[in-house]
Amino acid sequence: MIIKKLPDNVIKLIAAGEVIDSFTAVVRELVENSLDAKASRIVISLYPESWSLQVADNGEGMEEEDLLIAIQPHTTSKITSTDDLSKIQTLGFRGEALHSIAQLADVNITSRVKDSCGWEIITEKTEVTKCYPKAIAVGTIINVSNLFGNIPLRRQVNPEFKKQLKSIQILISELALCHPLVTWQLLVDDKIIFSISGNNNLTKIFPQLLKTVKYSDLEERDITINTPSENSLSYLKLLVGMPDRISRPRNDWVKIGVNGRVVKCAELESVIYSTFHRTLERDRYPLIFVHLQTSPRQIDWNRHPAKAEIYLDNLTFWQEKLRENIEEIFRLTDNNLSTKFENKRVENIFKVAENKAVYHVDNLPINREENKDNLGLIHLQVIAQARNTYILAEHSEGIWLIEQHIAHERILYEQLKNQWEIVALETPIILNKLLSKQVENLTNLNLEIDCFGEDLWAIRSIPKMLLNREDCLDALIELSWGGDLDSAQVSIACRTAIRNGTQLTIAQMQNIVDEWKMTKNPHTCPHGRPIYLSLEESSLYRFFRRHWVLGKSHGI
Ligand code: ADP
Ligand code: MG
Repeated sequence: MIIKKLPDNVIKLIAAGEVIDSFTAVVRELVENSLDAKASRIVISLYPESWSLQVADNGEGMEEEDLLIAIQPHTTSKITSTDDLSKIQTLGFRGEALHSIAQLADVNITSRVKDSCGWEIITEKTEVTKCYPKAIAVGTIINVSNLFGNIPLRRQVNPEFKKQLKSIQILISELALCHPLVTWQLLVDDKIIFSISGNNNLTKIFPQLLKTVKYSDLEERDITINTPSENSLSYLKLLVGMPDRISRPRNDWVKIGVNGRVVKCAELESVIYSTFHRTLERDRYPLIFVHLQTSPRQIDWNRHPAKAEIYLDNLTFWQEKLRENIEEIFRLTDNNLSTKFENKRVENIFKVAENKAVYHVDNLPINREENKDNLGLIHLQVIAQARNTYILAEHSEGIWLIEQHIAHERILYEQLKNQWEIVALETPIILNKLLSKQVENLTNLNLEIDCFGEDLWAIRSIPKMLLNREDCLDALIELSWGGDLDSAQVSIACRTAIRNGTQLTIAQMQNIVDEWKMTKNPHTCPHGRPIYLSLEESSLYRFFRRHWVLGKSHGI
């Protein structure tokens, strides 16, 4: 007989090993427990040399009797029956993490609940060996030492500490965005290497995670949605890096959080990529964080053993909501004005100045109603053309410079996308010396093309936009060099858009501006270049030190 039942302790190690296989996995389990205990401050200290770590929180803590059983298998305070499984609001519920960690390391836990004294337990191989009172603030401190001391191989296969540290930082960043009110600190050998102060605004949290990102590169929205097919509310939080201001060299910051943790959800990711399509430069990726907080019944966590992937119920509904709301952020509405941050800051400076009664500052006259057209988009009045290239437009809060060629290119590109039309020609266009690949490419774009003699081809239908254009022949040759339909549309839009250097009348420019601001992605051209530069009155006011007029410069 060669098939034997494994001893219990081996079974346990294998089962534990599935979850706890690295420093990061221990940190994940412990900080998720801290979050479940409603902590608002979490401090993680790592000691890589000794394979030890500590997680301290100011959460609800544990009573003495809870502490005594916390590391037993399948012990949890989060669910009590199978019914509860469909109502889970916490990150944990299996009651296995502490038990698994205690099998792989030495664990001691100190904890205190409000209005009670604190207790410390020392454990050895999942049994509590000592328990005594301990002075501690409300909350919990868990020390894990000698991790994987009993499985040397696990230590060997773990990547070098630098890599593990990186993945811990990513983990904390993701959790910080999902739980924005929490303040975090990460220490290695007692040196602080990463800290995040909690703030309800993700635009304030994100620049702490990625130093190259500025507060003003980001737009944030909180949307309340009626949950489909049940009587409850869901919340969608969006943090979007505006495509004219920021993008990433890798797709490392397209993140989707669902009910408190970042997960993989390819179906929502694809919505993000399609909404950002042709807004960024080549090989650049969006920066976006989405957090959906919805009823547990909308989510099936059984797609991945570590809860890293999910299935969403009512998927098309959530996809549509996501698309709608990203598109709304891209619209040129008053609410989306990029320099609103500037305005706030300047207002604050003024307030301080007024309190000190040194300067007298009039509030800027802003009539928000006048600033909108009937579609809710910002009203831009063209006043001039500069260098035959820039359209100068003003609105009630400032002036914008719009590059005429790329604004027009954006209009044409979206028109081509919406109504791609191939029209028959009365007289075919004759091209010569085409390679078979070129003929194939034109055919793939649905153009009618046939052989007209030796080395001659007759093009019998072309994209409508190229009709009557002098450069039609060049355009066809360009299209024949390949690319998909989308690239063809970009190149036609670029070719047909008004060139820079062309003089335009005010009416022509007003037309361009009016059409451009209605496009879905007015911020960048299909190649990813920013289309406009806004100079808001508040920034100009500050730049020209207009608040000095009645103050400093007059010696008051
Ligand atoms: P689970 O999180 O799935 O319930 P764990 O093994 O991670 O299982 O934790 C067991 C129990 O210990 C939790 O249900 C919780 O009651 C308690 N616990 C663990 N960590 C903390 C903490 N930091 N603060 C308060 N209670 C905690
Ligand atoms: Mg847990």
